[in-house]
Amino acid sequence: MRTDKKDESKNYRKGEPARETEESGSLYDLLQQYGCGPIQFTSEDGLYERHLIFDNVSSLKSAGSRERFEAAARSVRDVLSQRWVETEAMYERKNPKRVYYLSMEFLIGRSLSNNITNLLLNPIVKQLVEKKKIDPIEFLEQEPDAGLGNGGLGRLAACFLDSLATMQLPAMGYGLRYEYGIFRQSIKDGWQEEQPDNWLRRPDPWEVERLSEAVEVKLNASFELSGGSLRVIPGQPSSLLGIPFDRPIVGFGGKTINTLRLWSTAVPNYFDFAKFSGGDFVAALAGTLAGESLTRVLYPDDSTSLGQGLRFMQEYFLVACSLADLVRRFRRGNADWNQLPAKVAIQMNDTHPSLAVPELMRILLDEEQLEWEQAWDLTQRTLAYTNHTLLPEALEKWPVAWFEILQPRLLEIIYEINRRFLDEVRRRFPGDEERIARVSLVEEGAGRKIRMANLAIVGSHSTNGVAAIHSNLLRTITVRDLAEMFPERFNNKTNGVTPRRWLHLANPALSRIITEAIGDGWITDLGQLRKLQPMAEDRGFQEAFLRAKGEAKSAFADWLKATTGQGVDPDSIFDCQVKRIHEYKRQLLNVLRIIVLYNRLRDDPGLDVRPRTFFFAGKAAPAYRLAKVIIKLINNLAGTIDGDPAVAGRLKVVFLPDYCVSLAERLIPASDVSNQISTAGYEASGTSNMKFMMNGALTLGTRDGATIEMAEEAGEENFFLFGLTADQVVGGSGWYDPWWHYENEPETRAALDRIASDAFSRYEPGVFRPIGDALLKNGDFYRHLADLASYLEADRRLCDLYSNPQEWARKAILNVAGSGKFSSDRTIAEYAADIWGVEPCPVR
Ligand SMILES: *Cc1c(COP(=O)(O)O)cnc(C)c1O
Repeated sequence: MRTDKKDESKNYRKGEPARETEESGSLYDLLQQYGCGPIQFTSEDGLYERHLIFDNVSSLKSAGSRERFEAAARSVRDVLSQRWVETEAMYERKNPKRVYYLSMEFLIGRSLSNNITNLLLNPIVKQLVEKKKIDPIEFLEQEPDAGLGNGGLGRLAACFLDSLATMQLPAMGYGLRYEYGIFRQSIKDGWQEEQPDNWLRRPDPWEVERLSEAVEVKLNASFELSGGSLRVIPGQPSSLLGIPFDRPIVGFGGKTINTLRLWSTAVPNYFDFAKFSGGDFVAALAGTLAGESLTRVLYPDDSTSLGQGLRFMQEYFLVACSLADLVRRFRRGNADWNQLPAKVAIQMNDTHPSLAVPELMRILLDEEQLEWEQAWDLTQRTLAYTNHTLLPEALEKWPVAWFEILQPRLLEIIYEINRRFLDEVRRRFPGDEERIARVSLVEEGAGRKIRMANLAIVGSHSTNGVAAIHSNLLRTITVRDLAEMFPERFNNKTNGVTPRRWLHLANPALSRIITEAIGDGWITDLGQLRKLQPMAEDRGFQEAFLRAKGEAKSAFADWLKATTGQGVDPDSIFDCQVKRIHEYKRQLLNVLRIIVLYNRLRDDPGLDVRPRTFFFAGKAAPAYRLAKVIIKLINNLAGTIDGDPAVAGRLKVVFLPDYCVSLAERLIPASDVSNQISTAGYEASGTSNMKFMMNGALTLGTRDGATIEMAEEAGEENFFLFGLTADQVVGGSGWYDPWWHYENEPETRAALDRIASDAFSRYEPGVFRPIGDALLKNGDFYRHLADLASYLEADRRLCDLYSNPQEWARKAILNVAGSGKFSSDRTIAEYAADIWGVEPCPVR
């Protein structure tokens, strides 16, 4: 509400009585009279101060950092609100084909600085910050990371939303509004500890609750809380309400503002009055509490199927709410169901939302009374599926029994889909019963299960992997039978990351010199970074690059010192591995490398080496025992090295707790070396590899995921690739023997012996035994020892290069110049053209 006299009068239409203007004028006068002081409601700072004073009913002076953050965020939201409304109004008017991105995770991180940047408000905010003597860091840090995801899959969804809005594509993200995001990690005695992430404890200034657009989800069971856990009561139907909370997704330039719609649960019939009046207060409340628990917490797991009933219900809740919502929107503008695939594209981010297949069928069959053939045709043409992993333990399979309890109608539909599908298989491959067993949507056995990946592939028109190698392995190995049946459905969409957040915003120093060199077109057209290629040879530009890197490293070192007290040397090589802790990502291989380097220095104290700082960050799933032991080993190694004067100033290991988007934004610009060292064939794509490349780090990596394509773009001579290829890993499973490396490689043996000797665990003997077991006794499934020697060799070449700063800068610049392909804008353009068939719908 505007309260400025002059401005207010402009809002009144001609011909309306002047009395109203006077009345609003007197309200303003009254406000002044009651002591609002000298606030000017006309300017930006007036907007900010109004929020500061009135939202919290406090004085300017008493406002703390949190209040300042909220007032700033609300002011920015005021600026974008009109545009946000206009964007949706434009979509309603033009009725274009829309994309709906369904994902159980959106790892969005912070929004304030991103929205300021994308709205091009930086100059105004800078003035305001100076004028009001606001410490920008202090109040930016007030915003909690929206950690609604585990890692790469959730971050990809967030980057995609940024690209969709920037490219003015009519799109909406659908997810769940977890009250607790990914847990917070702290380190105690070297061990990971988990704390709940209550990110909504204070009101979130970005979200808008839309009660009027709630949807009802009917279930065939009820729930109650008993002794803290959720109990299911089968056969007693109930329903849940899905309440949408909308968040603005600001496209760069502020033209299009799309919506991320997150569902929260509520229970419609709040109270069982019969039970209540019967005196059973607790029982009356139980159903309410149980229903509302559903969206309370994000499952903190990565790359493994969880097998928990609550997660299954969350997945159904996301699908049921989102489909009801988008079907309702479709019906507002379209009378003919045959138009569905022409107006709606639904992308399933992994199999987590793959219940969309039977749920859309249910809506079309039961609610809209379409015939099976027509419903099936529309469903397939509307849905598309992205596969994110080849790890067998990560392919979701849900017990048939859970479908029976929660939503038996979906099971009936799945059985019918399967019956028709297997008939087709029999027709095409008569007598091949083994094939039938492999491709069936139902896994037979003691506890029958539904194979969600098979359901998603059969029920959609597109299945894509997320990097060339991954899409090939998916097609030729993981789901080969299905790819043989539907070759036209399979395609590749190599991942990308948004250059707005990951370069423009995160790395002001590098951004500045790039823009000075080639203009700022790269921000929305990252391919333009190619123009930097000739400048890699330019002495002046090389020096500017090294200065920018130095600036980012110092900024990181200062931040680390200020927030943790920990000192690191910005003149040392910053060598990073930051990602979820998982055996296939091989943090252990990195640890073995560092132990070898440490041993060399101990054996030969005179060795002339570059000072190096090794950074690790990442969370382990709370139930993943070995991953937690790996964290412990990294921390203990860091402690041992810190306490050893023989290597002081030359070697340092730092484990940064609580890896999250904001930490990545700080560390990645400061990095010299990026470790991407997964066992070849296991990392579907990776996206931190791309963030590092864009920020001018050199990659030490295996030929896996998108790293292969990154090296192609920059030239292999500018990469440090090593290790087994995926073909060698897959083909060689018979012969690999870690003991051979132990017996024949003295440095490998010494490193393993040091771990086993409790050199890093003097006060907790034996804690690292599981590591020795994994690497030797249990066969080293992820082939650490096979790649250690070649890793060390690549590492040596890299260090040699560092002693020649110009050569280093040249290669790093060529990496930045070659990183254009890895913008999520390119990825989204490919989805839009090949899978969705959507076009931009610019606003005004
Ligand atoms: C980019 C990113 C990831 C993905 O990292 P990978 O190395 O590709 O696994 C995970 N977490 C956060 C916070 C990220 O920003």
